[in-house]
Amino acid sequence: MFDKILIANRGEIALRVLRACKELGIATVAVHSTADEDAMHVRLADESVCIGPPAAKDSYLNIPALLAACEITGADAVHPGYGFLSENARFAEILAEHNVHFIGPRPEHIRLMGDKIAAKRTVKELGIPVVPGSDGDVGTDAEAYRLARDVGYPLMLKAAAGGGGRGMRLVREEGELAGALQSARAEAKSAFGDDTLYLEKYLERPRHIEIQVLGDGKGRAIHLGERDCSLQRRHQKVWEEGPSPALNTGTRDEIGETVAKAMRQIQYLGVGTVEFLYEDGKFYFIEMNTRIQVEHPVTEMITDIDLILEQIRVAAGSDLELTQSNVKFHGHAIECRINAENPVSFRPSPGKIVHYHPPGGLGVRVDSAVYHGYTIPPYYDSLVGKLIVHGKTRSECLMRLKRALDEFVVDGIETTLPLFRALARDKDIIDGDYHIHWLEAFLARGGVEE
Ligand code: ADP
Repeated sequence: MFDKILIANRGEIALRVLRACKELGIATVAVHSTADEDAMHVRLADESVCIGPPAAKDSYLNIPALLAACEITGADAVHPGYGFLSENARFAEILAEHNVHFIGPRPEHIRLMGDKIAAKRTVKELGIPVVPGSDGDVGTDAEAYRLARDVGYPLMLKAAAGGGGRGMRLVREEGELAGALQSARAEAKSAFGDDTLYLEKYLERPRHIEIQVLGDGKGRAIHLGERDCSLQRRHQKVWEEGPSPALNTGTRDEIGETVAKAMRQIQYLGVGTVEFLYEDGKFYFIEMNTRIQVEHPVTEMITDIDLILEQIRVAAGSDLELTQSNVKFHGHAIECRINAENPVSFRPSPGKIVHYHPPGGLGVRVDSAVYHGYTIPPYYDSLVGKLIVHGKTRSECLMRLKRALDEFVVDGIETTLPLFRALARDKDIIDGDYHIHWLEAFLARGGVEE
Protein backbone atom coordinates (compact mmCIF):
# COMPACT_ATOMS: atom_id res chain seq x y z
CA MET A 1 0.00 0.00 0.00
CA PHE A 2 1.05 3.60 -0.51
CA ASP A 3 2.54 5.59 2.39
CA LYS A 4 1.67 9.08 1.26
CA ILE A 5 -0.75 10.26 -1.40
CA LEU A 6 -0.60 13.67 -3.01
CA ILE A 7 -4.08 14.82 -4.06
CA ALA A 8 -3.73 16.80 -7.30
CA ASN A 9 -7.11 18.48 -7.08
CA ARG A 10 -9.25 20.84 -5.04
CA GLY A 11 -12.80 21.24 -3.73
CA GLU A 12 -15.11 18.44 -2.73
CA ILE A 13 -13.22 15.71 -4.60
CA ALA A 14 -9.94 16.55 -2.84
CA LEU A 15 -11.78 16.19 0.45
CA ARG A 16 -13.43 12.96 -0.68
CA VAL A 17 -10.05 11.41 -1.55
CA LEU A 18 -8.55 12.68 1.69
CA ARG A 19 -11.27 10.92 3.68
CA ALA A 20 -10.53 7.59 1.97
CA CYS A 21 -6.79 8.04 2.64
CA LYS A 22 -7.44 8.70 6.34
CA GLU A 23 -9.52 5.54 6.62
CA LEU A 24 -6.73 3.56 4.97
CA GLY A 25 -4.12 5.12 7.28
CA ILE A 26 -2.31 6.79 4.38
CA ALA A 27 -0.68 10.22 4.91
CA THR A 28 -2.01 13.01 2.68
CA VAL A 29 -0.54 15.97 0.86
CA ALA A 30 -2.83 18.74 -0.35
CA VAL A 31 -1.74 21.05 -3.14
CA HIS A 32 -3.34 24.41 -3.69
CA SER A 33 -3.19 27.60 -5.69
CA THR A 34 -2.80 30.96 -3.95
CA ALA A 35 -6.59 31.36 -4.31
CA ASP A 36 -7.19 28.21 -2.25
CA GLU A 37 -5.09 28.89 0.84
CA ASP A 38 -8.19 28.71 3.05
CA ALA A 39 -9.66 25.63 1.41
CA MET A 40 -10.90 22.76 3.55
CA HIS A 41 -8.73 20.14 1.82
CA VAL A 42 -5.68 22.20 2.73
CA ARG A 43 -6.75 22.47 6.36
CA LEU A 44 -7.45 18.76 6.75
CA ALA A 45 -4.43 17.31 4.95
CA ASP A 46 -1.32 16.26 6.84
CA GLU A 47 0.83 18.53 4.68
CA SER A 48 0.17 21.12 2.01
CA VAL A 49 2.14 22.71 -0.78
CA CYS A 50 1.30 25.87 -2.72
CA ILE A 51 1.77 25.08 -6.41
CA GLY A 52 1.09 28.39 -8.09
CA PRO A 53 -1.18 31.33 -8.84
CA PRO A 54 -4.99 31.03 -9.24
CA ALA A 55 -5.20 30.18 -12.96
CA ALA A 56 -5.51 26.38 -13.22
CA LYS A 57 -2.92 26.21 -16.00
CA ASP A 58 -0.35 27.65 -13.58
CA SER A 59 -1.35 25.52 -10.58
CA TYR A 60 -3.62 22.45 -10.75
CA LEU A 61 -2.47 21.72 -14.32
CA ASN A 62 1.16 22.61 -13.67
CA ILE A 63 2.98 19.28 -13.98
CA PRO A 64 6.49 20.50 -12.97
CA ALA A 65 5.02 22.11 -9.82
CA LEU A 66 3.17 18.89 -8.95
CA LEU A 67 6.33 16.83 -9.47
CA ALA A 68 8.25 19.21 -7.23
CA ALA A 69 5.53 18.86 -4.58
CA CYS A 70 5.89 15.04 -4.74
CA GLU A 71 9.65 15.37 -4.42
CA ILE A 72 9.51 17.77 -1.46
CA THR A 73 6.95 15.74 0.48
CA GLY A 74 8.07 12.24 -0.52
CA ALA A 75 4.59 11.29 -1.77
CA ASP A 76 4.67 7.89 -3.47
CA ALA A 77 1.36 8.22 -5.31
CA VAL A 78 -0.87 10.90 -6.84
CA HIS A 79 -4.65 10.85 -6.89
CA PRO A 80 -5.84 13.14 -9.69
CA GLY A 81 -9.56 13.33 -8.75
CA TYR A 82 -11.71 14.29 -11.75
CA GLY A 83 -11.11 17.05 -14.28
CA PHE A 84 -7.68 18.75 -14.31
CA LEU A 85 -5.01 16.06 -15.03
CA SER A 86 -7.17 13.02 -14.34
CA GLU A 87 -7.32 11.92 -17.97
CA ASN A 88 -3.89 13.11 -19.04
CA ALA A 89 -1.90 10.04 -20.13
CA ARG A 90 1.32 12.05 -20.35
CA PHE A 91 0.97 13.08 -16.70
CA ALA A 92 0.62 9.41 -15.70
CA GLU A 93 3.75 8.57 -17.72
CA ILE A 94 5.78 11.43 -16.28
CA LEU A 95 4.87 10.37 -12.75
CA ALA A 96 5.95 6.79 -13.53
CA GLU A 97 9.26 8.12 -14.88
CA HIS A 98 9.76 9.72 -11.47
CA ASN A 99 8.76 6.57 -9.55
CA VAL A 100 5.47 8.02 -8.40
CA HIS A 101 2.29 5.93 -8.86
CA PHE A 102 -0.64 7.45 -10.72
CA ILE A 103 -3.93 6.35 -9.15
CA GLY A 104 -5.78 5.56 -12.33
CA PRO A 105 -5.68 3.35 -15.40
CA ARG A 106 -2.58 2.59 -17.45
CA PRO A 107 -1.62 5.46 -19.79
CA GLU A 108 -2.45 3.39 -22.89
CA HIS A 109 -6.08 3.04 -21.74
CA ILE A 110 -6.38 6.73 -20.86
CA ARG A 111 -5.06 7.60 -24.30
CA LEU A 112 -7.27 5.08 -26.09
CA MET A 113 -10.49 6.24 -24.45
CA GLY A 114 -9.47 9.91 -24.71
CA ASP A 115 -9.65 9.52 -28.48
CA LYS A 116 -13.37 9.00 -28.90
CA ILE A 117 -13.02 7.61 -32.42
CA ALA A 118 -10.48 4.98 -31.31
CA ALA A 119 -12.58 4.26 -28.21
CA LYS A 120 -15.69 3.55 -30.28
CA ARG A 121 -13.76 1.28 -32.60
CA THR A 122 -12.24 -0.65 -29.72
CA VAL A 123 -15.41 -1.19 -27.73
CA LYS A 124 -17.27 -2.23 -30.87
CA GLU A 125 -14.69 -4.96 -31.41
CA LEU A 126 -15.23 -5.98 -27.78
CA GLY A 127 -18.93 -6.55 -28.41
CA ILE A 128 -20.32 -3.29 -27.00
CA PRO A 129 -23.04 -1.63 -29.14
CA VAL A 130 -22.16 1.89 -30.37
CA VAL A 131 -24.12 4.82 -31.87
CA PRO A 132 -24.15 4.38 -35.67
CA GLY A 133 -21.91 6.98 -37.27
CA SER A 134 -18.87 7.77 -39.36
CA ASP A 135 -16.57 5.21 -37.67
CA GLY A 136 -13.76 7.73 -38.05
CA ASP A 137 -12.59 11.22 -38.86
CA VAL A 138 -15.05 13.13 -41.10
CA GLY A 139 -12.10 14.33 -43.21
CA THR A 140 -12.62 17.15 -45.68
CA ASP A 141 -15.94 18.95 -46.06
CA ALA A 142 -16.71 16.96 -49.20
CA GLU A 143 -16.05 13.68 -47.40
CA ALA A 144 -18.14 14.87 -44.45
CA TYR A 145 -21.08 15.53 -46.78
CA ARG A 146 -20.82 11.99 -48.17
CA LEU A 147 -20.56 10.42 -44.70
CA ALA A 148 -23.46 12.52 -43.43
CA ARG A 149 -25.68 11.27 -46.25
CA ASP A 150 -24.77 7.67 -45.36
CA VAL A 151 -25.48 8.17 -41.65
CA GLY A 152 -28.59 10.28 -42.30
CA TYR A 153 -29.98 13.44 -40.69
CA PRO A 154 -30.41 14.58 -37.98
CA LEU A 155 -26.87 13.92 -36.84
CA MET A 156 -24.41 14.98 -34.19
CA LEU A 157 -20.96 16.33 -35.02
CA LYS A 158 -18.52 15.54 -32.23
CA ALA A 159 -14.88 16.24 -31.44
CA ALA A 160 -12.62 13.17 -31.24
CA ALA A 161 -10.83 14.75 -28.28
CA GLY A 162 -14.14 15.98 -26.83
CA GLY A 163 -15.29 16.43 -23.28
CA GLY A 164 -17.63 18.65 -21.32
CA GLY A 165 -19.99 18.88 -24.28
CA ARG A 166 -17.56 21.04 -26.27
CA GLY A 167 -17.07 20.71 -30.01
CA MET A 168 -20.51 19.13 -30.35
CA ARG A 169 -23.15 20.32 -32.86
CA LEU A 170 -26.59 19.06 -33.76
CA VAL A 171 -27.12 19.13 -37.52
CA ARG A 172 -30.78 18.76 -38.51
CA GLU A 173 -30.34 18.93 -42.28
CA GLU A 174 -27.70 19.18 -44.98
CA GLY A 175 -27.96 22.98 -45.23
CA GLU A 176 -26.63 23.29 -41.68
CA LEU A 177 -23.60 21.04 -42.15
CA ALA A 178 -21.02 23.50 -43.51
CA GLY A 179 -21.56 26.02 -40.72
CA ALA A 180 -21.59 23.31 -38.06
CA LEU A 181 -18.34 21.80 -39.36
CA GLN A 182 -16.67 25.17 -39.20
CA SER A 183 -17.83 26.13 -35.71
CA ALA A 184 -17.32 22.65 -34.20
CA ARG A 185 -13.77 22.52 -35.63
CA ALA A 186 -12.97 25.96 -34.23
CA GLU A 187 -14.34 25.08 -30.80
CA ALA A 188 -12.53 21.72 -30.72
CA LYS A 189 -9.27 23.35 -31.81
CA SER A 190 -9.38 25.96 -29.08
CA ALA A 191 -10.60 23.60 -26.33
CA PHE A 192 -8.46 20.55 -27.09
CA GLY A 193 -5.83 21.65 -29.64
CA ASP A 194 -7.27 19.02 -31.99
CA ASP A 195 -10.02 19.67 -34.51
CA THR A 196 -10.65 16.08 -35.59
CA LEU A 197 -14.42 15.53 -35.85
CA TYR A 198 -16.63 12.49 -36.28
CA LEU A 199 -20.33 12.18 -36.72
CA GLU A 200 -23.08 10.15 -35.16
CA LYS A 201 -26.75 9.55 -35.69
CA TYR A 202 -28.66 11.97 -33.46
CA LEU A 203 -30.94 10.18 -31.04
CA GLU A 204 -34.14 12.14 -30.42
CA ARG A 205 -35.23 11.05 -26.95
CA PRO A 206 -32.62 8.81 -25.35
CA ARG A 207 -31.67 8.50 -21.73
CA HIS A 208 -28.03 8.81 -20.65
CA ILE A 209 -27.20 5.63 -18.75
CA GLU A 210 -23.68 4.85 -17.61
CA ILE A 211 -22.13 1.72 -16.16
CA GLN A 212 -19.60 1.94 -13.34
CA VAL A 213 -16.71 -0.50 -13.65
CA LEU A 214 -13.80 -1.53 -11.46
CA GLY A 215 -10.83 -3.63 -12.55
CA ASP A 216 -7.50 -4.70 -11.08
CA GLY A 217 -5.45 -4.60 -14.28
CA LYS A 218 -4.89 -8.36 -14.10
CA GLY A 219 -8.02 -9.47 -15.86
CA ARG A 220 -10.48 -9.24 -12.98
CA ALA A 221 -13.25 -6.67 -13.51
CA ILE A 222 -16.78 -6.16 -12.29
CA HIS A 223 -19.60 -3.70 -12.88
CA LEU A 224 -21.37 -1.79 -10.12
CA GLY A 225 -24.62 -1.11 -11.88
CA GLU A 226 -25.75 2.03 -13.63
CA ARG A 227 -26.46 5.69 -13.06
CA ASP A 228 -29.08 7.56 -15.02
CA CYS A 229 -27.71 11.01 -15.87
CA SER A 230 -30.38 12.08 -18.35
CA LEU A 231 -31.13 15.37 -16.62
CA GLN A 232 -28.65 17.63 -18.35
CA ARG A 233 -28.25 21.23 -19.32
CA ARG A 234 -25.95 21.99 -22.26
CA HIS A 235 -24.81 18.35 -22.20
CA GLN A 236 -23.73 18.76 -18.57
CA LYS A 237 -25.18 16.51 -15.90
CA VAL A 238 -27.31 18.18 -13.26
CA TRP A 239 -29.06 15.30 -11.43
CA GLU A 240 -27.95 11.67 -11.36
CA GLU A 241 -29.69 8.65 -9.97
CA GLY A 242 -29.36 4.92 -9.58
CA PRO A 243 -30.85 2.55 -10.41
CA SER A 244 -32.27 4.04 -13.61
CA PRO A 245 -36.08 4.25 -13.56
CA ALA A 246 -35.92 2.85 -17.12
CA LEU A 247 -34.09 -0.44 -16.51
CA ASN A 248 -35.06 -3.74 -14.95
CA THR A 249 -32.76 -6.27 -13.33
CA GLY A 250 -32.40 -8.38 -16.47
CA THR A 251 -31.41 -5.42 -18.67
CA ARG A 252 -29.01 -4.13 -16.03
CA ASP A 253 -27.27 -7.48 -15.62
CA GLU A 254 -26.98 -7.95 -19.35
CA ILE A 255 -25.40 -4.59 -20.21
CA GLY A 256 -23.33 -4.69 -17.01
CA GLU A 257 -21.91 -8.08 -17.88
CA THR A 258 -21.18 -7.06 -21.49
CA VAL A 259 -19.18 -4.10 -20.19
CA ALA A 260 -17.43 -6.03 -17.40
CA LYS A 261 -16.40 -8.71 -19.89
CA ALA A 262 -14.86 -6.08 -22.17
CA MET A 263 -12.96 -4.64 -19.21
CA ARG A 264 -11.63 -8.09 -18.32
CA GLN A 265 -10.47 -8.52 -21.90
CA ILE A 266 -8.47 -5.29 -21.94
CA GLN A 267 -7.29 -5.87 -18.34
CA TYR A 268 -8.59 -2.49 -17.28
CA LEU A 269 -7.12 -1.05 -14.09
CA GLY A 270 -9.05 1.17 -11.69
CA VAL A 271 -12.47 2.76 -11.81
CA GLY A 272 -14.11 3.79 -15.06
CA THR A 273 -17.46 4.69 -16.52
CA VAL A 274 -18.82 3.40 -19.78
CA GLU A 275 -21.44 5.83 -21.05
CA PHE A 276 -24.42 4.94 -23.21
CA LEU A 277 -27.45 6.52 -24.73
CA TYR A 278 -30.48 4.26 -24.22
CA GLU A 279 -33.49 4.46 -26.50
CA ASP A 280 -36.30 2.00 -27.28
CA GLY A 281 -34.69 -0.73 -25.22
CA LYS A 282 -31.28 -0.45 -26.94
CA PHE A 283 -27.92 0.75 -25.64
CA TYR A 284 -25.52 2.84 -27.74
CA PHE A 285 -21.98 3.49 -26.42
CA ILE A 286 -20.88 7.15 -26.57
CA GLU A 287 -17.68 7.26 -24.54
CA MET A 288 -15.67 5.91 -21.63
CA ASN A 289 -14.30 8.05 -18.80
CA THR A 290 -11.14 6.62 -17.29
CA ARG A 291 -11.40 8.27 -13.88
CA ILE A 292 -13.65 8.66 -10.88
CA GLN A 293 -16.80 10.60 -11.80
CA VAL A 294 -18.49 13.45 -9.97
CA GLU A 295 -21.58 11.25 -9.55
CA HIS A 296 -19.78 8.21 -8.06
CA PRO A 297 -21.55 8.60 -4.65
CA VAL A 298 -24.82 7.42 -6.25
CA THR A 299 -23.19 4.03 -6.79
CA GLU A 300 -21.58 4.05 -3.35
CA MET A 301 -24.97 4.60 -1.72
CA ILE A 302 -26.68 1.70 -3.49
CA THR A 303 -23.78 -0.77 -3.20
CA ASP A 304 -22.10 0.24 0.09
CA ILE A 305 -18.78 0.04 -1.73
CA ASP A 306 -16.25 2.85 -1.24
CA LEU A 307 -15.08 3.47 -4.81
CA ILE A 308 -12.12 5.67 -3.91
CA LEU A 309 -10.85 3.12 -1.45
CA GLU A 310 -11.13 0.35 -4.06
CA GLN A 311 -9.47 2.62 -6.62
CA ILE A 312 -6.49 3.19 -4.31
CA ARG A 313 -6.21 -0.52 -3.48
CA VAL A 314 -6.05 -1.71 -7.06
CA ALA A 315 -3.67 1.11 -8.02
CA ALA A 316 -1.34 -0.19 -5.30
CA GLY A 317 -1.36 -3.59 -6.97
CA SER A 318 -3.93 -5.45 -4.85
CA ASP A 319 -6.11 -8.05 -6.50
CA LEU A 320 -9.76 -7.17 -6.81
CA GLU A 321 -11.35 -8.89 -3.84
CA LEU A 322 -14.92 -8.09 -4.82
CA THR A 323 -16.64 -10.50 -7.13
CA GLN A 324 -19.74 -9.78 -9.18
CA SER A 325 -21.89 -11.86 -6.86
CA ASN A 326 -20.65 -9.85 -3.84
CA VAL A 327 -22.12 -6.70 -5.33
CA LYS A 328 -25.64 -6.26 -3.97
CA PHE A 329 -27.83 -3.36 -4.97
CA HIS A 330 -30.17 -1.93 -2.40
CA GLY A 331 -32.55 0.97 -2.49
CA HIS A 332 -32.32 4.13 -4.57
CA ALA A 333 -30.00 7.14 -4.59
CA ILE A 334 -30.24 10.59 -6.18
CA GLU A 335 -27.47 13.18 -6.44
CA CYS A 336 -28.03 16.90 -7.06
CA ARG A 337 -25.07 19.01 -8.18
CA ILE A 338 -25.57 22.27 -6.36
CA ASN A 339 -23.73 25.05 -8.16
CA ALA A 340 -23.01 28.67 -7.28
CA GLU A 341 -25.17 29.91 -10.15
CA ASN A 342 -28.39 31.77 -10.67
CA PRO A 343 -31.04 29.00 -10.91
CA VAL A 344 -32.74 30.55 -13.94
CA SER A 345 -29.96 32.15 -16.00
CA PHE A 346 -27.16 29.88 -14.68
CA ARG A 347 -24.90 32.91 -14.44
CA PRO A 348 -22.00 32.04 -12.07
CA SER A 349 -22.31 33.54 -8.61
CA PRO A 350 -18.99 33.21 -6.78
CA GLY A 351 -18.56 35.02 -3.47
CA LYS A 352 -18.76 34.68 0.26
CA ILE A 353 -21.09 32.19 1.94
CA VAL A 354 -22.42 34.14 4.91
CA HIS A 355 -24.58 31.36 6.26
CA TYR A 356 -24.27 27.63 5.65
CA HIS A 357 -26.39 24.83 6.99
CA PRO A 358 -26.20 21.48 5.19
CA PRO A 359 -29.03 18.99 5.74
CA GLY A 360 -28.54 15.76 7.69
CA GLY A 361 -30.43 12.77 9.00
CA LEU A 362 -30.88 9.22 7.80
CA GLY A 363 -29.91 8.61 4.19
CA VAL A 364 -28.57 12.13 3.58
CA ARG A 365 -24.98 12.75 2.46
CA VAL A 366 -23.41 16.06 1.51
CA ASP A 367 -20.06 15.99 -0.31
CA SER A 368 -18.82 19.54 -0.18
CA ALA A 369 -15.72 21.49 0.78
CA VAL A 370 -17.43 24.77 1.62
CA TYR A 371 -18.06 26.11 5.11
CA HIS A 372 -19.63 29.04 6.88
CA GLY A 373 -17.67 32.17 5.85
CA TYR A 374 -15.94 30.46 2.90
CA THR A 375 -15.48 32.49 -0.27
CA ILE A 376 -16.03 30.61 -3.53
CA PRO A 377 -13.27 31.81 -5.85
CA PRO A 378 -14.21 32.78 -9.41
CA TYR A 379 -11.43 30.77 -11.09
CA TYR A 380 -12.74 27.21 -11.01
CA ASP A 381 -15.95 25.24 -11.51
CA SER A 382 -18.97 26.50 -9.62
CA LEU A 383 -19.79 23.34 -7.64
CA VAL A 384 -20.84 24.22 -4.09
CA GLY A 385 -21.47 20.62 -3.19
CA LYS A 386 -23.34 17.46 -3.98
CA LEU A 387 -26.41 16.40 -2.07
CA ILE A 388 -26.84 12.64 -2.22
CA VAL A 389 -29.93 11.05 -0.76
CA HIS A 390 -30.68 7.37 -0.30
CA GLY A 391 -34.00 5.62 0.35
CA LYS A 392 -35.30 2.06 0.35
CA THR A 393 -37.37 2.87 -2.72
CA ARG A 394 -37.35 5.67 -5.28
CA SER A 395 -40.39 7.27 -3.70
CA GLU A 396 -38.82 7.23 -0.25
CA CYS A 397 -35.68 8.72 -1.79
CA LEU A 398 -37.69 11.55 -3.40
CA MET A 399 -39.52 12.24 -0.16
CA ARG A 400 -36.23 12.47 1.70
CA LEU A 401 -34.70 14.60 -1.06
CA LYS A 402 -37.49 17.19 -0.80
CA ARG A 403 -37.00 17.37 2.93
CA ALA A 404 -33.18 17.69 2.62
CA LEU A 405 -33.42 20.38 -0.07
CA ASP A 406 -35.80 22.43 2.09
CA GLU A 407 -33.36 22.20 4.98
CA PHE A 408 -30.29 23.25 2.94
CA VAL A 409 -29.22 26.85 3.58
CA VAL A 410 -26.51 28.55 1.54
CA ASP A 411 -26.75 32.33 1.97
CA GLY A 412 -24.66 35.12 0.43
CA ILE A 413 -24.46 33.64 -3.07
CA GLU A 414 -27.00 32.37 -5.57
CA THR A 415 -27.27 28.60 -5.92
CA THR A 416 -29.18 26.11 -8.03
CA LEU A 417 -31.08 24.79 -4.97
CA PRO A 418 -34.41 26.26 -6.28
CA LEU A 419 -33.98 24.22 -9.49
CA PHE A 420 -33.77 20.98 -7.49
CA ARG A 421 -36.70 21.94 -5.27
CA ALA A 422 -38.78 22.37 -8.44
CA LEU A 423 -37.51 19.13 -9.99
CA ALA A 424 -38.23 17.05 -6.91
CA ARG A 425 -41.88 18.14 -7.13
CA ASP A 426 -42.37 17.72 -10.87
CA LYS A 427 -44.72 14.97 -12.06
CA ASP A 428 -42.46 13.64 -14.85
CA ILE A 429 -39.54 13.43 -12.42
CA ILE A 430 -41.69 11.71 -9.82
CA ASP A 431 -42.79 9.25 -12.53
CA GLY A 432 -39.18 8.79 -13.70
CA ASP A 433 -40.36 9.80 -17.15
CA TYR A 434 -37.59 11.94 -18.65
CA HIS A 435 -34.83 11.89 -21.29
CA ILE A 436 -31.73 13.94 -22.15
CA HIS A 437 -33.68 16.89 -23.59
CA TRP A 438 -36.31 17.01 -20.86
CA LEU A 439 -34.52 19.49 -18.58
CA GLU A 440 -33.87 22.08 -21.30
CA ALA A 441 -37.57 22.00 -22.20
CA PHE A 442 -38.53 22.32 -18.53
CA LEU A 443 -36.26 25.38 -18.18
CA ALA A 444 -37.56 26.90 -21.41
CA ARG A 445 -41.13 26.73 -20.15
CA GLY A 446 -40.10 28.54 -16.95
CA GLY A 447 -40.13 25.53 -14.63
CA VAL A 448 -37.96 27.30 -12.03
CA GLU A 449 -38.61 30.54 -10.20
CA GLU A 450 -35.80 32.53 -8.63
P1 ADP B 1 -18.71 14.88 -23.75
O1 ADP B 1 -17.54 13.94 -23.68
O2 ADP B 1 -18.40 16.19 -24.37
O3 ADP B 1 -19.45 14.98 -22.45
P2 ADP B 1 -20.54 12.82 -24.77
O4 ADP B 1 -20.22 12.04 -25.98
O5 ADP B 1 -20.34 12.13 -23.46
O6 ADP B 1 -19.71 14.21 -24.81
O7 ADP B 1 -22.02 13.37 -24.84
C1 ADP B 1 -22.54 14.24 -23.86
C2 ADP B 1 -24.04 14.32 -23.97
O8 ADP B 1 -24.42 14.80 -25.28
C3 ADP B 1 -24.77 13.00 -23.83
O9 ADP B 1 -25.00 12.65 -22.49
C4 ADP B 1 -26.06 13.32 -24.58
O10 ADP B 1 -26.91 14.11 -23.78
C5 ADP B 1 -25.60 14.16 -25.74
N1 ADP B 1 -25.30 13.33 -26.94
C6 ADP B 1 -24.10 12.80 -27.26
N2 ADP B 1 -24.17 12.07 -28.39
C7 ADP B 1 -25.44 12.15 -28.83
C8 ADP B 1 -26.17 11.60 -29.95
N3 ADP B 1 -25.58 10.83 -30.86
N4 ADP B 1 -27.50 11.89 -30.04
C9 ADP B 1 -28.12 12.66 -29.12
N5 ADP B 1 -27.49 13.21 -28.05
C10 ADP B 1 -26.18 12.97 -27.90
